[in-house]
Amino acid sequence: MVETMSKGKRLLICYAHPDDESFGLGALIASHVAQGVEVYLICATSGEAGSMDASYIQQYGSIKATRLAELECAVRVLGIRKLFLLGFRDSGMMNHADNQHGDSLWSQWLHNPEEVVRSFVRVMRQVQPQVIITFNEYGGYGHPDHIVCQRATVAALQQVNDPDYHVDDLAPYSPQKLYYSTVAKMPMQIRIWQERFKGVDPSRAGRNHDVDLLAILDHMTAVTTHISITKYLQAWDDASNCHLSQGGARIFLGFPLWLRRVLFRYQGFTRVVPAWQPNETLETDLFAGL
Ligand SMILES: [Zn+2]
Repeated sequence: MVETMSKGKRLLICYAHPDDESFGLGALIASHVAQGVEVYLICATSGEAGSMDASYIQQYGSIKATRLAELECAVRVLGIRKLFLLGFRDSGMMNHADNQHGDSLWSQWLHNPEEVVRSFVRVMRQVQPQVIITFNEYGGYGHPDHIVCQRATVAALQQVNDPDYHVDDLAPYSPQKLYYSTVAKMPMQIRIWQERFKGVDPSRAGRNHDVDLLAILDHMTAVTTHISITKYLQAWDDASNCHLSQGGARIFLGFPLWLRRVLFRYQGFTRVVPAWQPNETLETDLFAGL
């Protein structure tokens, strides 16, 4: 293993869209930045397939420009050290026409996976993170771009320390831990109950009826690691409010701040590397043991 570039703690988040970092990990990122951890973010696509009110498009010129401006806002609010935009096109939800676009991340993964993996290895070697976070194998909620991020991250970890794998003369490097973001099952079970109560089929939830809550629950990996985030719920809202075209912190209305203080005291993760052992006690620090 090569010597790390400094003694600091570095966390790399391998996510897909402008807003994934804030809606999913806003509190977690804020808490780590507050502790002096350098947080780096891969955003693999530019969010072109997102829908939004025409007023945002008029203001920024395009969906892509709007979403990238919102991401810049979140990067600033959260104190993310560096953003890596990989520039793939948003694939939209599974089986949508955007999947077929030649530049979409999903299409690139099917036809040109080497280049996708290479772009992840490049960032890993530049950042030299000890800890990496990505989505689970179902991409959290089945989004093809999330699924590709998980696959590309795992594939990149096979190559990143190989001296025979060349990317821009960057030195080989070994990240030490890999986590999948996950949540406790209870809030999802409550959400499914809420949908059923509203008369909505939980396998066809969401604004566009393309989110399968039952499949999400089915693919959830166990929480091996939980990080206290209670003090950072406001920062979570502030970062989420950068993404106004995607609903901002209003998307949490089903879970107002007071309820989240009860339900979301911790952010859950599944440690994948090194593999979790059944006799281990729950981790409370992503950097534990490093
Ligand atoms: Zn996303």
